[in-house]
Amino acid sequence: MAYNPFLNFCKVLDEAAAVAGIPKEDYEVLKHPERELKVALPVVKDDGILEVFEGYRVQHSSLRGPCKGGIRYHQDVNIDEVKALAAWMTFKCAIVNIPYGGGKGGVKVDPHTLSKSELEKLTRRYAAAILPLIGPQKDIPAPDVGTNAQTMDWLMDTYSMMAGHAVPGVVTGKDIEVGGSLGRTEATGRGIMIIARLVAEKYGLGRAKVAIQGAGNVGSISARLIYEDLGFDIIAISDVSGGIYKADGLDVKDVSEYLKSKRLLKDYSAPGARHITNEELLLVDCDILIPAALENQITAPIAEKLGAKIIVEAANGPTSVEADEILKSRGIEVYPDILANAGGVVVSYFEWAQNLQSLYWEEDDVNRMLDKVIVRAFGDVVKCAGEYNVTLRLAAYITALKRLTEAAKLRGIFPR
Ligand code: GLU
Repeated sequence: MAYNPFLNFCKVLDEAAAVAGIPKEDYEVLKHPERELKVALPVVKDDGILEVFEGYRVQHSSLRGPCKGGIRYHQDVNIDEVKALAAWMTFKCAIVNIPYGGGKGGVKVDPHTLSKSELEKLTRRYAAAILPLIGPQKDIPAPDVGTNAQTMDWLMDTYSMMAGHAVPGVVTGKDIEVGGSLGRTEATGRGIMIIARLVAEKYGLGRAKVAIQGAGNVGSISARLIYEDLGFDIIAISDVSGGIYKADGLDVKDVSEYLKSKRLLKDYSAPGARHITNEELLLVDCDILIPAALENQITAPIAEKLGAKIIVEAANGPTSVEADEILKSRGIEVYPDILANAGGVVVSYFEWAQNLQSLYWEEDDVNRMLDKVIVRAFGDVVKCAGEYNVTLRLAAYITALKRLTEAAKLRGIFPR
């Protein structure tokens, strides 16, 4: 059967509920997104030819607050993926205990094939199409794979033009000049760095050896912060073109500079650094492996062979359900996506709160608050794993599920 991340989500959810003794009727609603919208997006391209793109916005749950989650531009976007990503947002926000539900959007497009003006047209048309669903109190998009601050600025502007006044709180991850928060661009990578720090402390790893799959916003910033702030060795990193490896640690400053120029790692060269494939990267002997690319990378065959002691999931859904079982039997601990990559949405929450109050924070304060939230969530999940004697993924699901079912109980079902 084809890989279906939403069914995977449901499977893990059932398992978590069974372990925690949560009855089906208390969480059944979480297997059904509240709203799913599919939109068609006509765009006249630069050559005058019309192309119609397919887009989605899924609101998985608003039990704990407005829906929250990014918008993905990728050629493989499909409804099951968007549903899974939306559900993971619900759980992510519950784990870090911020007052949001979960949502996600996507457009089936390879953004690298469009010019800037085509991307702007596509984004504004998408914003118009999902307009009835979004708003600072309803559903707040943010960047994800293939989108960035500029995408959010266009969304914010389109929404504001329709409203007749500036509404910065409708999206997060904007540029600073239009209401973005200091520290938001680095937030997901910073969250990963904080988890890497906590993991190294917990297992006494010392100067850990780290391998990172992915060199986009999350992969590259995680690499830089882990190297600069923690002094760990980044022994491998990859992008779509493949990876580079150096057993005693890459020169991360040099690699970061190289990546800034948007060149591919297949063309990178430095003394002692050798080229490896993306699969080889996942198998590298290291203390911490950080998958920071797309879903379904650590599959069963990879899990059998991978050489890491600990996995910290920066991407959403990088490990398949089958692979999880294998990793468990091999004693490889997985710090799951919905905990590990929550730094982004936490600072999105700070951005939104700043927008609603028209009051802006210093970067130090943003980073300090982020640290506090991630340290607390890490502690909650580790404690839960001990209590139930389960994997960290199940513990993360249980932690979130308890908060969600409690909210559901208190709110009740309308109408009764
Ligand atoms: N796309 C990011 C994620 O998957 C950020 C979402 C947000 O900030 O709302 O967590």
